[in-house]
Amino acid sequence: MQAMKIATWNIKQAVAPRKPLQELWNFAADVIDADVMVFTEGKVPGDGVPEGWTAVWRDEGVDDKRTWGTVIAARNGVEIVDITNGVDGDGGFVISHSWPGTVSIVDVLQEGKPVLTIAGIYGITQDADGNQVGHGGHSVPNILNELVDLVNSPRGERLVIAGDFNLLPADMPEELYEIMVDVVEDTADLREPLDGCTACSFDGESCGHLWTHKDDSSEDNAMHNIDYVFIAPELAGVCVDVYGGEADFEGIWEMSDHAPVVVEFEF
Ligand SMILES: [Zn+2]
Repeated sequence: MQAMKIATWNIKQAVAPRKPLQELWNFAADVIDADVMVFTEGKVPGDGVPEGWTAVWRDEGVDDKRTWGTVIAARNGVEIVDITNGVDGDGGFVISHSWPGTVSIVDVLQEGKPVLTIAGIYGITQDADGNQVGHGGHSVPNILNELVDLVNSPRGERLVIAGDFNLLPADMPEELYEIMVDVVEDTADLREPLDGCTACSFDGESCGHLWTHKDDSSEDNAMHNIDYVFIAPELAGVCVDVYGGEADFEGIWEMSDHAPVVVEFEF
């Protein structure tokens, strides 16, 4: 058996104040200790992908004004292959991108064998006309629709969809829960309730969400669970640990306004 740790983390390169990229990538290696990172609002440092990592990303970011995007990076001998724009032929999939740069997709290989396919997504906070709306309520359902052919392809059985959805639990698209497993909700009874969870979906039950986003603009210092990892039901048997949020990364708000969500697999 071999362990693999994957994590999603928004490293806040869209809005100031920004931490130096090298510091954020070092944190991912040293503190999160991830084998594969999905960095949302991410960038590769100006002098290139840091030593020890390989990465898949769209160099221009989302557009001219938004030069950040979803970066997927790997280390510790884990190989990633860029399939963001689909794969031809039998068993392949087609995809379009309404917001290029917000979605990156990789096959993840361990010792040459494909073990996961990861779609890293960022729920850009725009409506259909490009106006800022402050949440992913328009973009996320569109991005998920664009992933349907991937979900239905053979890769769907080893698919992970991870990222910053910019949606609170109660606002998440229900269809996603019919086809994939929200690893945090699935393990909710193993952790302490998140007292102050905003727009919780656990409706009266004890909440096991993670505090993944600190909203300084809200008066009640709201605890947002807006970063998610979904796995194909077929992966449930190899998923061995789920953790993250502020509870597991004390002092994280010094680094970003988001905290990581971490999932460990054993293959
Ligand atoms: Zn909750």
